[in-house]
Amino acid sequence: MGPVRLGLDIGATKTLGLVLADDGVIKAEVREPTEPGADGVVRTAAKVVDALRDAVDEPWTGPVGVGVPGLVDVERGAVKHAVNLGLDGDWVPLGDLLGDRLGAQVVVENDVNVASLGAAALSGEDDLVYLSIGTGLAAGLVLDGRLRRGVHGAAGEIGHVPVDPMGVYCQCGQRGCLETVASGSAIAAAWPSTDLPPAQALFAAAQAGDEKAIAVRDRFAVGVAEAIRVLSLAVDPRTIVVGGGVAQLGDQLRAVVAAALLDQAASSPFLASLDLAGRLRVVPADRPVAAVGAALLGR
Ligand SMILES: [Zn+2]
Repeated sequence: MGPVRLGLDIGATKTLGLVLADDGVIKAEVREPTEPGADGVVRTAAKVVDALRDAVDEPWTGPVGVGVPGLVDVERGAVKHAVNLGLDGDWVPLGDLLGDRLGAQVVVENDVNVASLGAAALSGEDDLVYLSIGTGLAAGLVLDGRLRRGVHGAAGEIGHVPVDPMGVYCQCGQRGCLETVASGSAIAAAWPSTDLPPAQALFAAAQAGDEKAIAVRDRFAVGVAEAIRVLSLAVDPRTIVVGGGVAQLGDQLRAVVAAALLDQAASSPFLASLDLAGRLRVVPADRPVAAVGAALLGR
């Protein structure tokens, strides 16, 4: 076996790490519940890396790549506003803290950005928009083979594009943002559920013919379709890949969003000619796109 790379996807509930071979094959995968706070996040990440080193007795090349939620200063490897990880104060120098612990170089990047890199690598596409529908709504842009972060790291923050002046107030301070209708938290607010994840409960109820559920699901789908329309008209990517927790719904999600896109295009030959529904993909539920993208950081 040739050289391998290590990538970590640090999420609020779990940290998933993997070893990626040069040919794209995943050689080992390890997951641990994420401990909150800077010390906890570093401890969890180190535990995962140690387990990966044990699982694959091969030298690795390049830095250890890490994807984290929140605002990331890529130059400094620092993270801010990762509230779900218990990192809500000042900048946390995650790259240095973890690098010291591992005795290795660590590269840190935003989780949606690494997922977009992973989606590009796994699909063989070098031009795509990755729309992450999790608690929030955000996109990663891989354009002509390059990740577009933006001058302020705000490229792809589609969830905070306001579309409804009469809509509810968003945590960002604006009103009627896409995230308030097209996200996991929007579904949880409109369709609370305790036994199943709300998105699954909603889609199951709609599938069973519940009229209120159908209305909530379709409003959500229209919001996702609006996000896709805005992103596509801004950068015209070859492929649109939907991922994130809500994408666990798989083809049921693709079908309702594609239907909303076709509906929006029905009165517009221009939109119809762009075939947004035909460019839509959903990440298969078992593909660890963010950890794969993290492993490819610094390539
Ligand atoms: Zn907002």
